Amino acid sequence: MSKQVIVASIMHESHTFNPVPTDLDKFTVEHGNVVVERDRGTRTGISGFLDAADEYGWSFSVPINARATSGGKVTKAALDELVGCLEQAINEHSGLDGIALVLHGAMSCEHCDDGDAEILRRVRAAAGPDVPVAATIDPHGNVSAGMTDNADIICTYRTTPHIDQYDTARRAAAILERALRGEVKPHMVLARRPMLYAFDRARTHNGAGPMVEALEIARRWESEYPGVLSVGVQAGYSHADTPQTGPSVFIVGDGENPLYQSLAEELIEFGWKNRARETVTLVSLDAAMERAQRNNRENPEGPPVVIGDYADSPGGGTPGNGTNMLQAMLKAGLTNTALGAINDPEVAQHCAAVGEGARVTVSLGGKIAPEFGGGPLEVTAKVLRVSDGDYVHVGPSATGARGSFGTSVLLQVEGIQVIVSSRNQNFLDTQQFRIFGVEPEQMSVLSCKNMHHFRAAFTPIAADVMSCDTGGMTGYQYHRLTYQKLPRPIWPLDEMAAE
Ligand SMILES: [Zn+2]
Repeated sequence: MSKQVIVASIMHESHTFNPVPTDLDKFTVEHGNVVVERDRGTRTGISGFLDAADEYGWSFSVPINARATSGGKVTKAALDELVGCLEQAINEHSGLDGIALVLHGAMSCEHCDDGDAEILRRVRAAAGPDVPVAATIDPHGNVSAGMTDNADIICTYRTTPHIDQYDTARRAAAILERALRGEVKPHMVLARRPMLYAFDRARTHNGAGPMVEALEIARRWESEYPGVLSVGVQAGYSHADTPQTGPSVFIVGDGENPLYQSLAEELIEFGWKNRARETVTLVSLDAAMERAQRNNRENPEGPPVVIGDYADSPGGGTPGNGTNMLQAMLKAGLTNTALGAINDPEVAQHCAAVGEGARVTVSLGGKIAPEFGGGPLEVTAKVLRVSDGDYVHVGPSATGARGSFGTSVLLQVEGIQVIVSSRNQNFLDTQQFRIFGVEPEQMSVLSCKNMHHFRAAFTPIAADVMSCDTGGMTGYQYHRLTYQKLPRPIWPLDEMAAE
């Protein structure tokens, strides 16, 4: 008889210093066959579990697939609605054999700091102790004992930019299948150190550095020790003020064996010793503008220099409305330049209403948390394009997945074309420019509000790539964040005892 498995996703990375709460409206929520129709064939975690279900002959249902762009804490009402849907499906299911979840690992809620542990705790309570629960998470997660105690299997992505969400789900599903057959009895152990970040912030795109080295060790152990089913390396998500914030290593072992804890300790110790070693240095706005001006001279019609606005990254949880980058670009007199995207629903809707070709003078962006990333900027612009903002990822990250900026516009502000959106979105795919008629290859300068992930799609078309600290909420200025729940002392905020 085929195994009965529930597949579901509830994903959020919560920037606890972002004042805008993430309510239910900010989630894209799908149920049942809609998920199967939309996600099959994409490079997403859900798709990985669906293909695994086919391969292993599971009979499955998908009660909920919910995700929102990173942002402020999730409201209690939103979490209750989303998890309630999953609990109901578990409760109504008789003869359930397993559960496969796509989570993020850095969710915090208004009423509880550790949202992912809360989801897993409620899933465990509904399913009972004997139904194996497998989950995938992002390597920018803050993994707690609350998570590892309530799940049997957690697997984490091994690429940043993240291009292996699908493969991670396949790895988790393969272990789940072995558990369902009774071949293994997965059990998790966790190791941590008092640090805010480590493992090169999970970067793998340089093919070198502490994350790449740690993953080599992880893979070696998985092949050397038959009981080591999976090794998870977490860089942590440092922009969350929670007791569980920070990097970790966790191991899914077969049964209980002190070896697993000692391996986890060994690898987190490697992370601790290499915590300050990074493969990317953030450049200042001045340095970024200098390189942009040079490309304006050398490659006025492309290929572009691509500047990641590391510090104002909606994918990392900022409001996405910072204006420091645009302000610097205007001051530098750049031409044939495009910026994606400033989130400002008011301006987007006003400009859409006046229509293509109209001239407008607006106070653009910077309305939320102007002390980070820059306040409102008075600009006179021409509305070049009005769009519904819908796109499909064509780049290597979550290929085939859909997203939308909502009603949005492309404005020409002097030499800069600026996308202004109604919905705050991670900006990482060339298609997000193309839907506005901007051909990325033919631009001289591009800027994406993004930390790491834009590199996967943009490096192949770029003359030069960099990440810039514009002073936003996802930059390195941790001293500007008022942590209260973080266990102290912690590196690098506090003096640590000599080693
Ligand atoms: Zn991530």
